[in-house]
Amino acid sequence: MKKRALALFMAVILTLQMTGCNTGTKEQDTTAENKTQSSIKDLFNSGRNDKEDGKEPADDERESAEDDKDTESGEREADGEDEDEEVRYQDDYYEFVNQNLLSKIELAPTDAHWDWFGELNAVVSGEMEEIIDELASDGKTYEKGSSEQKIKDMYECVTNIENRNETGLGPLKPHMDSIRNAGTIGEYVDALAHLSGEFGFSSIVGGYSIMQDKADSSEYAVYMMYADTLIGKEYIEGENTQEYVDMYLEYINDMLMEFGMTANEAAQSTDSIEALLRDICASTLTTEQMYDPAVTYNVYTQQDLQKLYTNVDIPRMLKTLKIDGQDKYIVMDVEQAKKINSLLVEENLQALKDYSTFVMLNDTAKYADAAYAKLSDDMKNALYGITESWGDEKTWKNLTQDMLPWDFGMIYVKEHFSAEDKEAVEKMIGQILKEYEAIISRQEWMSDATKQKAIRKLETMQVKIGYPDQWPAARDMMQVTPISEGGSLLSNLLVSMQVSIDDSLNKLGTKVDRSEWDVTPQTINAMYDPLNNEIIFPAAILQAPFYDSDNSDGANLGGIGFVIAHEVSHAFDSSGALYDEYGNYNVWWTDEEMAEYKKMSQSIIDYYSNYEMMGTKVNGDLTLMENIADLGAMTCITSIIGDDAKALDEAFGQMTYNWASEDTASFMMYLLNTDTHSPNKVRVNAVLSSCDAFYKIYDIKETDKMYVAPEDRVGIWK
Ligand SMILES: [Zn+2]
Repeated sequence: MKKRALALFMAVILTLQMTGCNTGTKEQDTTAENKTQSSIKDLFNSGRNDKEDGKEPADDERESAEDDKDTESGEREADGEDEDEEVRYQDDYYEFVNQNLLSKIELAPTDAHWDWFGELNAVVSGEMEEIIDELASDGKTYEKGSSEQKIKDMYECVTNIENRNETGLGPLKPHMDSIRNAGTIGEYVDALAHLSGEFGFSSIVGGYSIMQDKADSSEYAVYMMYADTLIGKEYIEGENTQEYVDMYLEYINDMLMEFGMTANEAAQSTDSIEALLRDICASTLTTEQMYDPAVTYNVYTQQDLQKLYTNVDIPRMLKTLKIDGQDKYIVMDVEQAKKINSLLVEENLQALKDYSTFVMLNDTAKYADAAYAKLSDDMKNALYGITESWGDEKTWKNLTQDMLPWDFGMIYVKEHFSAEDKEAVEKMIGQILKEYEAIISRQEWMSDATKQKAIRKLETMQVKIGYPDQWPAARDMMQVTPISEGGSLLSNLLVSMQVSIDDSLNKLGTKVDRSEWDVTPQTINAMYDPLNNEIIFPAAILQAPFYDSDNSDGANLGGIGFVIAHEVSHAFDSSGALYDEYGNYNVWWTDEEMAEYKKMSQSIIDYYSNYEMMGTKVNGDLTLMENIADLGAMTCITSIIGDDAKALDEAFGQMTYNWASEDTASFMMYLLNTDTHSPNKVRVNAVLSSCDAFYKIYDIKETDKMYVAPEDRVGIWK
């Protein structure tokens, strides 16, 4: 289920920071496990440039950096007391602004990462945990189908380990048996199709997702998804990642032994799974290619699909998946599909069965009995450099929240949404869209006709703020059966997966309702969805340090303003620019303009590829879209502010502060390999070094490390 959700996100929505899935935000949750709102406030105050407050010297220093340029003092340093760690803003603006804050952040052994997103997420999560505690201990019975009943009964299923151990693979057991007992490739594909068709598990063949049709975003279409590549292509093929791959292979081995294989069998199976995995990854698209509709939007008829999968009975498989009879099927990764077809031969049967056995165990590990859950948890911790587990209670409460996202969302917005904040943010969105129009109008490389189309895209951009008027149908469809009525964590998980499939199948053949929300209001993130040409700001992002009604306009422009402008920029990043105002994949640029765009993109790729973190270079290709969005956002914010040096200083400071982060070395490795965003420090320093306004208000000399010559500064939207 998790993989499916991830695949869906990757296919469309572009975010402000890396999306949750089974990796990012979970680790962040624990950051402030026991932090209260007041300790969060302490952190806010620890590095913030608020002139009214009494503050520590380092705050003053950064805050008045603007004044300093007049004094021609190129010698400004952070603070006298820490002479070993003197940082000049001219050399490393990010460190200069954040050193005070980051000196107070110590990653707990349960954490891989700290940033404001995780910090706020921990607060949201803490509030939801209190609700769970209350419901778990109030001794009341709630109406069937109410959020209270669902949360209460789900938490009981999650925490009753005896019940989980008794359930084992439960309703999945017959499916697992069909895979294990398959005597031919035909029987194997059949077993996978039943599993995928019924529950939507990721699969080596037959995994699908129903999403908006990129060619006509008012309709839904069936996308044939790529196979689960486990630890992923980037790790499998990376130069510095083989130790992590070895660790993952050990995890596969342990899971198979837990499943009942002997040490010999497990070792042999792990070897053959590794061979298959490396073979498949060699024919799998890179992450950045997956965002390119020119690469992933491949229309096939059922007949074409049969020609692609010569070793599969396609009509039979599609019927089992309940997606037969469609005019078109969109194959996202054609080369991978060809490779997998070539692997679907009798001599690989055992290896394929082992592969799918592991994928199924891995997908259900969190929900299954304690032994599988622990193996999965240990592997994840090792992958991200976490040295201590959260402990059962925290894990269980998070799992309960994951299982019922919209029920928790409804509770969240009841207490956390201010109409005034919404209004203030709407006003700023209007200001940013207007400024973007001016930015587009001044581009000399674009024809008037193309500018008109770009402006039309801005004018028609849909804005979603806070939470949906209508809660998603899937919330009502999802019912929780308590243990007393025969339910278990696994059976309820399977119900949620069936709900997701039924919800998708119900939509197929209907017109897209663009008012629907895919993102819960308690999500600390923001998004642009090119298929709806819309920007989304869930309720939870509208809070400090991103937005604060007490802040100056300059600081809020550097805070939530930068966030908004980043999302608007996605409409014109290297992927978003390929969709028109209706959200259809439709190239509306001339060939000359496209060539110019690509030339500027290449400069951005080269520019970011020069930055490194912990000795590893940033992948300029992987991070291109997000870097374009960051650079465009900074142009927009500084254009709005104009020549007001104080406001510029506040905006630069707030933006830098909001992107403060700490990571374990392993988590940084994970980000560098898989995250489409540059590491936070690079997001700040690379953008500022390319921003002309930055040089106007600060005294940056050619010999300073932040200095980049005017002709080497990059960006599409300048
Ligand atoms: Zn983004």
